[in-house]
Amino acid sequence: MPTKYDLAIIGSGGGAFAAAIRATTLGKSVVMIERGTPGGTCVNTGCVPSKALIAAAEARHVAADASPRFPGIATTAEQLDMPTLIAGKQSLVESLRGEKYAEVADSYGWQMRQGDAAFAGTTDAPTLEVAAADGTVEAIEAQHYLVATGSRPWAPPIDGLDEAGYLTSTTAMELDEVPESLLVLGGGYVALEQAQLFARLGSRVTVLARSRLASKEEPEVSRALQQVFADEAIRVVRRALPTRVSREAETGQVLVTADVSGGAQEFRTDQVLVALGRRPVTDRLNLDAVGVNTGGFGEVLVSDRMQSSNPQIWAAGDVTGHPEFVYVAAHHGTLVAENAFAEADRAVDYARLPRVTFTSPAIGAVGMTEKEIVASGIRCDCRVLPLHHVPRALVNRDTRGFIKIVVNADTSEILGMTAVAKDAGELAAAGSTCSARRSPRSPTRGPLPDHGGRHTDRRQGLHHRPFNAVMLRVKAWPEPANERQRLKRKSKLHRIP
Ligand SMILES: Cc1cc2nc3c(=O)[nH]c(=O)nc-3n(C[C@H](O)[C@H](O)[C@H](O)COP(=O)(O)OP(=O)(O)OC[C@H]3O[C@@H](n4cnc5c(N)ncnc54)[C@H](O)[C@@H]3O)c2cc1C
Repeated sequence: MPTKYDLAIIGSGGGAFAAAIRATTLGKSVVMIERGTPGGTCVNTGCVPSKALIAAAEARHVAADASPRFPGIATTAEQLDMPTLIAGKQSLVESLRGEKYAEVADSYGWQMRQGDAAFAGTTDAPTLEVAAADGTVEAIEAQHYLVATGSRPWAPPIDGLDEAGYLTSTTAMELDEVPESLLVLGGGYVALEQAQLFARLGSRVTVLARSRLASKEEPEVSRALQQVFADEAIRVVRRALPTRVSREAETGQVLVTADVSGGAQEFRTDQVLVALGRRPVTDRLNLDAVGVNTGGFGEVLVSDRMQSSNPQIWAAGDVTGHPEFVYVAAHHGTLVAENAFAEADRAVDYARLPRVTFTSPAIGAVGMTEKEIVASGIRCDCRVLPLHHVPRALVNRDTRGFIKIVVNADTSEILGMTAVAKDAGELAAAGSTCSARRSPRSPTRGPLPDHGGRHTDRRQGLHHRPFNAVMLRVKAWPEPANERQRLKRKSKLHRIP
């Protein structure tokens, strides 16, 4: 006889933990199944190791950069000890895994199983089979199931790539030697963070991007980042499509041929890092057998309540193909528990979701971009404030970047904010509350956003807090000439938030 629970969760990442915490606090019995390292991507191979290494590389960069920036300061960056850096990162990962996951699971008291889970049974009566490493198989039955199996790095079918070998963000952050040269394929957030990380550790980095850097964000972001990368000797090649890869036996180097703006170019490098996106992990889950529909990338198709085509089976996090952030996964998890057990009938809404890339300066954005506003037929009052107008940036002696705010010109509603700045992540979080309000000219307040519940806010520490020190002087913003007079009357100091 299978053991019966209220909720059976496949996976143990941010989505799984948030759901388990909420369901347990609602008095439900929960079992969580994990086949790999408990804690999932964020703590083991994603946010935590990447931000730990980025912080270390930033410290080294600041040491090398401070003397020319600040008169009277003399610093230098000494030799790097990569094995010690990687060991330090790993011990941080392990301690956070213990503190934020293992101890949390213990304190809430849900059941944990180590094994590979797959659905069995039928659409009307789904069950789970959990195969442990010792070959035993346990049958589990639940009132509701949550698929929170995450995503894995994806590599396109480029001729010779598999044979030549390549790094992913996971394996790159395990290297015990910094490659002399590194070719990064991709222009999204993982590619950008890893490119700058390795450049700051001493690699000669080239980025091959299909379109522009951070192509889903405002075009000003790509331009600002490209300048930042150029200043740090990171070469960016845009409109580049890799077509062939081979590794030279004599030198061990990799040759990558790419179609660049229509012509073939060759790149020689010590290592290739493929950061072209991730794909949901749903193979071998046997979802068809229990009536769960998946999309073209294998993602579990869900309603805005996070329910799959089988009303007993829900999904959370990267496996849904929704924005890949741990706070999104955690938000999904909490929402699933409340919808399944508390009849909350809550829907996901990404209108005010902060998006942060931890380059330095960082990219922070929330809400719509100018292109999206124009495409939806709204008249945009779009302003860009270069950081050289911001005293705080001037005193930091770092004026790289900008802040852009896009406003519905007819209603004065703030619809989006994008920044490239040292604390752009904090600005995006502040913007997420601000975009719910009217612009300073019409300060009507809307509801505050919900960022993913208790797990994200109190335990995971990845929630972006508002940056109170920023003062934006609206009258200093470049403005369309025909609006100058109107704004002059209304201009005032606006504090976020
Ligand atoms: C390099 C990198 C940096 C990142 N940085 C950030 C950041 O700074 N901020 C941020 O918000 N997000 C960041 N992310 C994204 C974030 O890590 C993910 O969005 C988040 O961890 C997804 O959580 P999840 O719960 O969906 O799945 P995961 O955390 O991936 O958990 C899924 C788990 O399911 C298990 N599993 C899969 N199939 C089965 C099965 N059949 N049986 C049992 N177990 C199974 C897997 O082993 C895994 O442990 C980063 C990601 C990467 C790769």
